[in-house]
Amino acid sequence: MPTLSEVTAALDRIYPRHWAEDWDRVGVVCGRPDITVRRVLCVVDVVPETVIEANERDCDLIVAHHPLLLRGVSSLDPAADYKGDLVHTLIEQNIGLYVAHTNADVAAPGVSDALAERLGLTGLRPLRPLEGPEHEGSGRGIGRIGDLPETTFASLLEHAAKVLPPTAWGVRGAGDPERTVRSVAVCGGAGDSHLADAVAAGADVFLTADLRHHPVSEHLARGGPALIDAAHWATERPWLDTVAGQLSDLVDDAVVSDIDTDPWTIHQNSGVNRVES
Ligand SMILES: [Zn+2]
Repeated sequence: MPTLSEVTAALDRIYPRHWAEDWDRVGVVCGRPDITVRRVLCVVDVVPETVIEANERDCDLIVAHHPLLLRGVSSLDPAADYKGDLVHTLIEQNIGLYVAHTNADVAAPGVSDALAERLGLTGLRPLRPLEGPEHEGSGRGIGRIGDLPETTFASLLEHAAKVLPPTAWGVRGAGDPERTVRSVAVCGGAGDSHLADAVAAGADVFLTADLRHHPVSEHLARGGPALIDAAHWATERPWLDTVAGQLSDLVDDAVVSDIDTDPWTIHQNSGVNRVES
């Protein structure tokens, strides 16, 4: 059985830390390098529910997408904040924590590949390719764009709601329901800073999460691609299967958390499912 340092070194080779954005914090968060890792739990978020799950499923290591500690901390007082409490719990239960975030977003295969494959997109290429000699022709970069057999925007929305991991949020769409769709861009997580990339790539639809009123409204007024706003967790959960597969030869068992950690857990609408324009 591998040690924690062997597993995290393997993850560092698949998701090199220097591929992460400068503001990001990736790699080992806690865990002694010499502990034996039999079972790994892959999660999007390190929250009380997924830490309990790791303990209940007898996991030695959590591989998470989102950093637990992104900004500088000066205290891990468990009485003062839940994050301090989670770090104490992880250490007391001898569970290591490793994060692959924006370095996993740009990897190929990465977060947006898994999302695009759920939708059935083919001929995937990066929406914004990584530049530099290290990345030449690698297919690495932010987001993906690919193709679908011709459909309508309304049918694609229905399809996306079915194939993405279920959440209370579901999906919401912005654009003409009858619009013909062949080319679809996706970006796992909050992708509104890549609306212009989706336009430049000539996508008919852009699917991402955390879209906001003004950028969406202005984007549509300029005649940009139709938009699908999915739950943040649902856009990144498909990648957990990728990581678990990448670890399957190394550890006894690599399992995936299906606890929906999207913070939006209630969805109530007025009964209007489509506003005719
Ligand atoms: Zn995210």
